[in-house]
Formats: sequence, C-alpha cells, structure tokens
Amino acid sequence: MKALQYRTVGAEPEVVEIDTPEPGPGQVRLKITAAGVCHSDDFVMNMPAEGFPYPLPLTLGHEGAGTVDAVGDGVDEIAVGTNVVVYGPWGCGQCLQCAQGLENYCPRAAELGIFPPGLGAPGAIAEYMIVDSPRHLVPIGDLDPVATVPLTDAGLTPYHAITLSLPKLVAGSTAAVIGAGGLGHVAIELLRHLTPARVIALDVTEEKLEFARSVGAHEAVLSDADAVDAVRKITGSRGVQAVFDFVGYQPTIDTAMGIVGTAGDVMIVGLGDGQATAKIGFFAQPFEVAARAPYWGSRSELIELIDLAHEGVLDIAVETFSLDEAPEAYRRLGANTLTGRAVIVP
Ligand code: NAD
Ligand code: ZN
Ligand code: ZN
Repeated sequence: MKALQYRTVGAEPEVVEIDTPEPGPGQVRLKITAAGVCHSDDFVMNMPAEGFPYPLPLTLGHEGAGTVDAVGDGVDEIAVGTNVVVYGPWGCGQCLQCAQGLENYCPRAAELGIFPPGLGAPGAIAEYMIVDSPRHLVPIGDLDPVATVPLTDAGLTPYHAITLSLPKLVAGSTAAVIGAGGLGHVAIELLRHLTPARVIALDVTEEKLEFARSVGAHEAVLSDADAVDAVRKITGSRGVQAVFDFVGYQPTIDTAMGIVGTAGDVMIVGLGDGQATAKIGFFAQPFEVAARAPYWGSRSELIELIDLAHEGVLDIAVETFSLDEAPEAYRRLGANTLTGRAVIVP
C-alpha cells in the first residue's frame, strides 16, 4: 500500500510503498477514506534528531476516517463495512482517566509504549491503518468522511477546551480565538453554537480574518502589537472571559494575558512553547485568571461531536489532496496558506 512517511529527521515526508498491515488479535484494519493534516505534525517534524520522540519511519496522520475492512481474532463488536472515525489519543483503557473516557490523559500510556496513530504508532495517511482496539472507533453512518475526519482533532481539541470554559461563557460574555486555522475555525463555530458569547478572532492576515468572519466570528482583529488595545476597545474594561490560543507563541500568550478579564480562562492549545506568567496580588488585577493547557479530548466528547455533525450544525472548511499530493499539503501548512483543514483522500 501507499503511505506518507516521515523517514529522516529534517527531510520532507515521502509517499512510499509498504506492506499492507494485517490486524492482530483484538485489532481492526481500516481502509482509509480521509485523513487530516495537523500543525502538530509540523512541530514533530521540526524536532531535532537527538531525543526525537518516535521511532522512524513514522506513517503520519492522527486524524483518520475509514471503513472497517478486516478484524483480528476476538473482535466481534464492530462489523466489516462500518464507516468510522478514529479516536486518536489511545490510552490503556484500564486506569481512572481511561475509565472516564479521558484516554488523552492516560498516565500509563507512555510507560506501556502506547502511542497515538501518526504520533508514534503508524498513522492514517495511508491506504490502510491498524486501530489497536474497536474502543477507539466511532461509527459515523452516512456522514461525509472528508468533512467529518477533522472533528477527531481539529474539532475534538477545541470542543474539550470550550467545554472546560463553558461556565464562563454566559450571556454578555466574550470569547477570543487566536489563530483561525484548522482548530481555530472549528472553535469559532462551536463557540457560536454552544454559547451566547460574543466571539473575537485574531489572526495575522486580512484573508484569515475574513475567513474567521465567514465561519461566525463577530469581530476579527489583526494579531499584532496593537491587538490588546483593539480587543480592549471592543470589550471595554471587562475584558474577555475565555481566550483560546491556537498558536501558543510568547507574543500570542502575552496578548491572551493582556485581554483576559476577571476570573477569565486562558486556554493554551497551540504548541508554540510560550509561557503564561501572572502577577499575583492586590495591585495585579484581573483577579482569578486561570491559564490551562488542555490536550485533545475524551472519547465521549468525540461521540458528542459526531452527534453534532449529524445535526448539521458544523460546516468544516477543508482543502483536499490526494495521497501523492500529501507532501504538498504539509508544505502549504508550513507556509500558512491553507484555509481550514487539509484532508488527504487516498
Ligand atoms: P493551523 O496552521 O491550521 O492554524 C494556525 C493558525 O494560526 C493560522 O490561521 C495562522 O494564520 C494563525 N497564526 C499564526 N501565527 C499567529 C499569530 N502570531 N497570531 C494569531 N494567529 C496566528 O494549525 P492547527 O492545525 O489548527 O493547529 C493549531 C495549534 O494547535 C498548533 O500549535 C498545533 O500544534 C496545536 N494543537 C494542539 C493540540 C492540543 O491538544 N493541545 C491538538 C491539536 C493541535
Ligand atoms: Zn493534531
Ligand atoms: Zn489509561
């Protein structure tokens, strides 16, 4: 089969021919119908060779959709022919977090050598992939896999973050989304659907701001040195009740800390490696600001999102590429010229 592999640290990923994998006991093989391209892959591929976290070659893709094509011994809970998406943050399935569906926070996964597909285990940008357990599959029925596959990360990650901040996003509140890309544009749609908050988007080009407005942002502001003043002008002294930073560089975290209001949440999702620092004390308002770094989401949240997709309330923006064009999708991601999510259709 064909697969997109990251083979050499520092080189571009390559389309290669490898053996089609066979499902072992308890496993499921999918014929891939769609696979998403995430900026986290770009961060991984920019890591230095020393201490590189995963064995190479690595088949990329941690957003996967497919049709169950073969099952291993002992799998009888999902039938061949079922259309599914893959829940990516695989955990042990046994611990407290996993029992709550929060496999994204499984503390045992690393020690047991369990890695997400595309981030350690062979991923979804291939003609076939192996899923370690039917527990990690969510049936999607007749939903379009191309429009649905981004929900497994570009949807699930903002959904989880927004869920944590829901109590803050009451009538009259404001939410800010920094970075209206793959994750950020879904965040804007989810905020509009799930909350009455006014939504302000921040991004770096006029095209991105126009895109943010087109998916529901009430206001869109250039993310530059004047961004704090521009947002403060919109919110007045009250500031923003929840900021979702899908960039996470020092300048955007500084913006987030500059626009957050009393008891507001700064949710740092982007992997830009910045730091949030807070002055504590009577003269250091706003009080009760919380900075949090959520990671991906729970199995039950993915099921809820698929339910939302069935209701037709989300309109995911995708640009599609063939498997042979997958390296180009990563080039476009790196050059920041994509609109919404790049999806590979093998
Ligand atoms: P993307 O490239 O699709 O979107 C990034 C957006 O940020 C683009 O629209 C870009 O124009 C904008 N941007 C860049 N610099 C900016 C700045 N200084 N100010 C404002 N906007 C700016 O990326 P994506 O796939 O949506 O991923 C977003 C981030 O989230 C990445 O850092 C990714 O690694 C991370 N991520 C984290 C998790 C998690 O669980 N924490 C999960 C998935 C992705
Ligand atoms: Zn991702
Ligand atoms: Zn676990």
